[in-house]
Amino acid sequence: MEKTSDLKAEIVELKARLAEAEETLNAIRGGEVDALVVSGSEGDQVFTLKGAEMPYRILVEEMNQGALMLSPDGTILYANTRFAVLSKTPLEQVIGTSWQQFFPADKHLQLESYLRAQEPVSAMEELSLQAADGASCPVHLSFRTMSASGVEGVSVIVTDLTERKQSEDALRKTSEELFENNVALEAFSYSVSHDMRAPLRSMQGMVAILLENHAVKLNPEAKMYLDRIKSSATRLDRLIHDVLAYSKLTRDQNEIATFDLDKMMREMVETYPNLRGADIEIVASSAQVRGYEVPLSQCISNLLGNALKFVPSGRVPCVKVWTEPTKGRLRIWVQDNGIGILPKNHGTIFDVFTRVNSSKEYEGTGLGLSMVKKAVEKMGGHVGVESELGQGSRFWIELERG
Ligand code: ADP
Repeated sequence: MEKTSDLKAEIVELKARLAEAEETLNAIRGGEVDALVVSGSEGDQVFTLKGAEMPYRILVEEMNQGALMLSPDGTILYANTRFAVLSKTPLEQVIGTSWQQFFPADKHLQLESYLRAQEPVSAMEELSLQAADGASCPVHLSFRTMSASGVEGVSVIVTDLTERKQSEDALRKTSEELFENNVALEAFSYSVSHDMRAPLRSMQGMVAILLENHAVKLNPEAKMYLDRIKSSATRLDRLIHDVLAYSKLTRDQNEIATFDLDKMMREMVETYPNLRGADIEIVASSAQVRGYEVPLSQCISNLLGNALKFVPSGRVPCVKVWTEPTKGRLRIWVQDNGIGILPKNHGTIFDVFTRVNSSKEYEGTGLGLSMVKKAVEKMGGHVGVESELGQGSRFWIELERG
């Protein structure tokens, strides 16, 4: 009796185990399971099922880059469809052949060294993949040595650079065209401004003759109109002068050199008519900067000129200049006791023809600071300002130290 019940119990247990095994088999068939953990005398063991590689295969086949698996001697063990498309070679003619056939002979030695590299290598230089029809395709390669599950080899990812190169070429072409247009435009504005000077000079000369030699015959109204023509002509002359100076900055090829700033500034203050005799304190320093002589002195004279100009009437302008070393560079500060500038305008005052204060009291063309910015940037530096309305201003330019 006991034996029968033992057998019955055994049958029930075996049936349960069979059901469990059937369930697992169904799960494997249905793709719900990709690994099994089996307990044995040596502990738990994990068995990966072949079907688990499927997603990776799909990923590699679908990716937009060519993928190769090479043996250590460079034979292609595996290639994805994208590589076959890039090389215009059927997959069956790719696999089993040497991968070097797809690259120019003068690159073979270099490519072999990548295969032997222990660390992953990214060959950033552009290589050309030779397609079966003789065409070549610009590519970038990355290599990774593999030694897993007993497989020795190197995986190579081939990135097609055709589209990137086309966009780069288009961008280069557009910027070259833009540059040429800019040069033509600057040459045009230069010659127009230059040619406007002669008729303007004759207008100024004739007005001067009328005012000086014929003053007695002029009634007050006629004299007032002539005075207005004279001051408008002076303004136009200043504008032409500034436009010419501005376009000269781009046109002229200057030689970079090292300058003793202290000496340069003191000479300017003693010789420039608009600076001579003004209260300008130059804090002594042995600082040297690298730049272009004419544009550099133009920058400093523009900043000093503005510092003396933008001062409320009745206040004596007081300007201080000093230098401050920054990381590998030198900052030149120009501080004034003038009208100051609202912070919201700090960004725009360096743009061409921008004048925040256009009252008659402060004449100008709005080109001075844009010239400073252009010249400083041409010398590889930066410009800036710190100011509050009514609190004076501190302009700075930063250049490479000499
Ligand atoms: P301009 O001096 O011919 O007006 P700039 O380009 O030199 O032109 O300056 C642009 C504007 O920036 C000026 O019109 C003025 O409003 C402001 N600005 C420049 N320098 C100063 C300064 N030191 N103090 C106050 N405002 C200034």
